[in-house]
Amino acid sequence: MFDINTLVLPHILTLKPYSSARDEYAGDTGIFLDANENAYGTPGVATPGVVASVAFHRYPDPHQQQLKQRIAEIKQMAPDHIFLGNGSDEAIDLLIRAFCAPHTDNIITLPPTYGMYEVAASINQVGVHTATLMQDFQIAEDQLMQAVDAQSKLVFFCSPNNPTGNILSRDTILRFARQFSGLVVVDEAYIDFAGVPSLLEVLSDVPNLVVLQTFSKAWGMAALRLGMAFASPPVIQILNKIKPPYNVNALTQQKAMEVLAHPNQKEKIVQEIIAQREKLAEALSELPLVEKVYPSDANFLLVRVRDAYQVFNTLIREKVIVRDRSSVLLCEGCLRITVGTPEENQTLLEKLKAFQGAFSA
Ligand SMILES: *Cc1c(COP(=O)(O)O)cnc(C)c1O
Repeated sequence: MFDINTLVLPHILTLKPYSSARDEYAGDTGIFLDANENAYGTPGVATPGVVASVAFHRYPDPHQQQLKQRIAEIKQMAPDHIFLGNGSDEAIDLLIRAFCAPHTDNIITLPPTYGMYEVAASINQVGVHTATLMQDFQIAEDQLMQAVDAQSKLVFFCSPNNPTGNILSRDTILRFARQFSGLVVVDEAYIDFAGVPSLLEVLSDVPNLVVLQTFSKAWGMAALRLGMAFASPPVIQILNKIKPPYNVNALTQQKAMEVLAHPNQKEKIVQEIIAQREKLAEALSELPLVEKVYPSDANFLLVRVRDAYQVFNTLIREKVIVRDRSSVLLCEGCLRITVGTPEENQTLLEKLKAFQGAFSA
């Protein structure tokens, strides 16, 4: 049913990708006079351009081979199943550009969900069909089937979903994938915080599955911009073919290697965030202005409060910034609150209590 060569846009299929200087000679020793770099180093940077073994005056590895090898070990898969991008937002954009013809094709999103799918589609003049989640934030299968037409090329499932915080039904996603001829993209930005395993487990059995993960959340590297897409090698090859040659910079590759040397420390922090999430959820649910704390498989809580907009603005005046989701479909009256440090969470609770006190006075 799924055939990558009929799914990919014809001009991408036949595209001859840019060949960088580093593609033509891949060795790492020699006198490099091929890429018009500054052989003298980086002006003003001590020990000519070298900081923690990264030489800023040379172009980085366009294929991020060392980093992919390390990620492949951690994820227990072959490196040819991995694409690395400038954040997972880059993978979202490249998927749309490779598989969706402007003015013709469409993607499917399941609102309320992450806004970038729609924005990336709109930038590329690609249509967006929606299949709104059910009241319990699970997939409405009949709506989803109705949203699909012959021009639907990608479906974006966000699981755990942002902003609702819940895991989507794995059975429903896989059932859908089996009879969909396009790509099923599962955005797992928050999977480390969930009590269920990643869909990476079934990657080799589902040829049209793409799993997105990121270093921005559990790995604590949002500023470095590093995202991952996992898929079958033919899909990965297409993303590699159309990416900007040096899309992941040298500092990011270097720092990610350092962070990946200590995966246990990440796990420790994740456990701490989950513990804080449960503690915060309980404390919030005891406040009279809180109407509902939704269960969360992520590092944030969706919280329905009385007078959401007023609460949001009061918190801002107190320099506590949360995300106002009160005008989002199915999230009426809700704020999305990231789990902070114990001190930050305590301050948030105190400000909410003070607001409540002023309110009832
Ligand atoms: C935060 C987030 C991402 C991460 O995007 P990056 O570009 O990797 O920082 C992706 N998807 C969702 C749903 C998110 O909330």
